[in-house]
Formats: sequence, C-alpha cells, structure tokens
Amino acid sequence: MNTYTVTTIEQFRAYGAKENVPLSELTSFRIGGNAAFVWEVNDYRSLAAVLAIAEEGGVPVYLLGKGTNILASDAGYSGLVIRFDRPTHAPVFVGNTVRVCAGTSLTQLAKETVAQGFMGMERLSGIPGTVGGACAMNAGAYGAEIKQILSRVHVLENGTDRWIDVNPDEMGYRKSPFSFPQRIVLEAELRLLPDDGGAAARMQDCTARRREKQPIEYPSAGSVFKRPEGYFAGALIEQCGLKGRQIGGAQVSEKHAGFIINRGGATENDVSALIAEIQATVTAERGVRLECEIKRMGDGVCIS
Ligand SMILES: Cc1cc2nc3c(=O)[nH]c(=O)nc-3n(C[C@H](O)[C@H](O)[C@H](O)COP(=O)(O)OP(=O)(O)OC[C@H]3O[C@@H](n4cnc5c(N)ncnc54)[C@H](O)[C@@H]3O)c2cc1C
Repeated sequence: MNTYTVTTIEQFRAYGAKENVPLSELTSFRIGGNAAFVWEVNDYRSLAAVLAIAEEGGVPVYLLGKGTNILASDAGYSGLVIRFDRPTHAPVFVGNTVRVCAGTSLTQLAKETVAQGFMGMERLSGIPGTVGGACAMNAGAYGAEIKQILSRVHVLENGTDRWIDVNPDEMGYRKSPFSFPQRIVLEAELRLLPDDGGAAARMQDCTARRREKQPIEYPSAGSVFKRPEGYFAGALIEQCGLKGRQIGGAQVSEKHAGFIINRGGATENDVSALIAEIQATVTAERGVRLECEIKRMGDGVCIS
C-alpha cells in the first residue's frame, strides 16, 4: 500500500502513467507482481518532468528497457517503473555512424544497419533488449560487445542531459558507466563500417545459432550467471547434474544449462531458490562461485 499524495498521483496520471501494472507483462521472464505506476517514455522533456514529480513526491523509481535481463519481485514494486522500450525517433545515419534512441530494439537496429549497407552489429543482433539496456549492460555475444562500436552516449544525469565520449576501458564484461540509477541513456552513437558483403549472412548465422542453442521458446532472462573467468557457467551447471532441475515453475533449461526458464507459473521465489541451489552446488563441487548477471528489482529484493 503506497502513501503518495493525491497531488503526486494526479501528476503521474496527467502524464499518462498507468497504475497497478503486472511486472510479468513488462519482463521476458513473465514473472513479478504489480508495479504501482508505469510510465512509458515518449520524449526526453517529459522524462525529466516525470522524474522530478517522483522525486518531489518521494516515489522510488526503477528504469526498464524491454525487461529481458530482469527478475522482478513477486511482491511487485510500490514505486514508479519508467519503461523505455520504444524509439522516440528513427535512427539517423551520418557517414559511418548511426545515432539512435535508447528505446530502439537492438535487433531491429542491427537489421536496419545492414539494410543501409553497414556492418558491425551482426553479432549483437539476436540480443532481445533495447539499445539503452545494451549500453547499461555492455551487452555482447559471440565475442562482440557493444562497447566496441559505441562512440558517444547521450545521458540524463541529475536532471541534466549531456553527451559523453565513450572510454572503452571504463566498460567491462557486463559492466558500464551508462546504467541506471547513475545515468539514464537517452541516445547512443555507434560507429559502423561499410558492409564487406557478408553482414546479412553473418547475422543470419548468429540467429540460427541462437535458435539451435538457446531455449527461446520459453520465457527467460537469458544467461542467469556471468561467465566465470576460465569457465562457462552452463558447462559447470551441467557437470553438476543440474540440467533439468526444477523448483516450482522454474527449471534449469535442458537445452542450455546457463538459462533458467519459466515452465509456467514460475515465481521470483522459485527462481531465487533455484539460483541459490545452483550457486551452492557449483561452489561445493567445482569450487567456483557463480555471480548473477540478471538484475533483480521490486519490493523486498535487493535492487541491482
Ligand atoms: C533469450 C535471451 C537471450 C539473451 N542473450 C543475451 C546475449 O547474448 N548477450 C547479452 O549481453 N545479453 C543477453 N540477454 C540479456 C538481455 O537481453 C541484455 O542484457 C539486454 O541488453 C537488456 O536490455 P533491456 O532493454 O531488456 O534492459 P532491461 O532488462 O530492461 O534492463 C537491464 C538493466 O539495464 C538498465 N537500463 C535499461 N535501459 C536503460 C537506459 N536507457 N539507461 C540506463 N540504464 C538502463 C536497467 O535499469 C537494468 O538495470 C538475453 C536475454 C534473453 C531473454
């Protein structure tokens, strides 16, 4: 039960915020109770205004892109979820660069860059999140990371927006200075190369590899754990005999043991119990501590 003033609630309503929205509808895991308020970004000025209302009204805020790396609480979220999962403007191609809004789908953008005669995004193409989420996570696949092509990022920080030149040394494996709550990514500028004629084929190859290796037919949040130095999380989990292990509706995927899938009706509690069991078993049997890659949000969980 939230205790926000009528003024705050009316102000959110005036900006078109929705109330009591299931987080299960906003996250690819299809898990989570209700968010008290959800507001979808449609322009940057409104974003700054809505953030100011939340701050003034003492309402906690969480920022979501497409929610594809998120485990949301069964208890929901008594604050405001700002959802930035749609483009506010079309990509702008200038020379060998493209400037793109944070809400743009990474996969759609990859396709568009290839259609425009560029290469550089092929290996990122199947990652199901937004450009903003990819900047925040330094998302990557098949040896590529977004930091390799990211030149500048337009951020909102402490109520002010500015462009920041990217220093790739500040971005590491799933680590980035462009992540909420410190910064909100508004736009990104990516450096591309002229297509050598093979970009479309490489992109198709990555898509085929994902279809073959990943359980994309089930709701999930992708790889649950970061890759520990010198190992693969999925292989360690498999070696411990945990493939197929199920707690409630949450199961270690039979197809890729690095994924936990929602077999139907999984709760955050089920997933958390499975994560704890995997971590304890892998530590005991293989001496490796698995660290979560997925982010937790919502009431009663440590926000990460
Ligand atoms: C089937 C599947 C396959 C996947 N494969 C991969 C893969 O190959 N490689 C990989 O790296 N990941 C993968 N993922 C995980 C996920 O898609 C990526 O982490 C993605 O970059 C998250 O983007 P998102 O828009 O969904 O962000 P969300 O999941 O909504 O948010 C993730 C984090 O980013 C922050 N964030 C989101 N938008 C912004 C913004 N505009 N500004 C600042 N912070 C922001 C959020 O607050 C949160 O902390 C996969 C997930 C699934 C479900």
